Amino acid sequence: MELIFATANKHKLEEAQAVLGPSFTLVTPASLGVTEEIPETAETLEENALMKAEYLWNRFHKPCFADDTGLLAEALGGRPGVYSARYAGPGADPQKNMSRLLSELKGCTNKKARFETVAALILSPGEKYLFKGTLEGEIIETPAGSGGFGYDPVFVPEGYDKTLAEITPQEKNNISHRGKAMRKLSDFLNNRAKS
Ligand code: IMP
Repeated sequence: MELIFATANKHKLEEAQAVLGPSFTLVTPASLGVTEEIPETAETLEENALMKAEYLWNRFHKPCFADDTGLLAEALGGRPGVYSARYAGPGADPQKNMSRLLSELKGCTNKKARFETVAALILSPGEKYLFKGTLEGEIIETPAGSGGFGYDPVFVPEGYDKTLAEITPQEKNNISHRGKAMRKLSDFLNNRAKS
């Protein structure tokens, strides 16, 4: 089955493809000629994921999905949350976002944080589905590791002594917010195909 995945992030694409397996072919918006950035301006992860998937549905009328992820730090009342990508303001990049997070958490003893991913799948205008995955952990002060992307170098999953950037892509997928959301999406599509 072909699915359009609303991402320009090669790490996300690899993570999603690894979970979905070879019976799904993921197609990127860029490969279909989408050059503009797909808007994600809503106030919740659910709305953002749906907004991105609807954008693609309206353009191509083909099965598509999008995901939106937030990092919620407990001591910051759940920030940056839905604003994780734009945390450092205009010109934000992963490095600047992590620096902002670390400076906001300086002096806080509570370093608990949670990743949340919501994946929105659209198969037809009447068939829109949401799948959620979460990962609990802690933020460390000194980034470590070169794998993964985004906030991975400062996030140590619960029960681990390494960051998400220090474990293998497969290990990350086994425990991660996105891995969990994608497995739910994949199970849903596989069960649907059987019935
Ligand atoms: P989005 O889902 O691409 O909008 O991601 C929101 C923000 O969270 C961006 O800053 C990403 O770099 C970051 N992010 C998304 N997924 C992950 C992940 O699996 N690990 C670390 N950071 C992530």
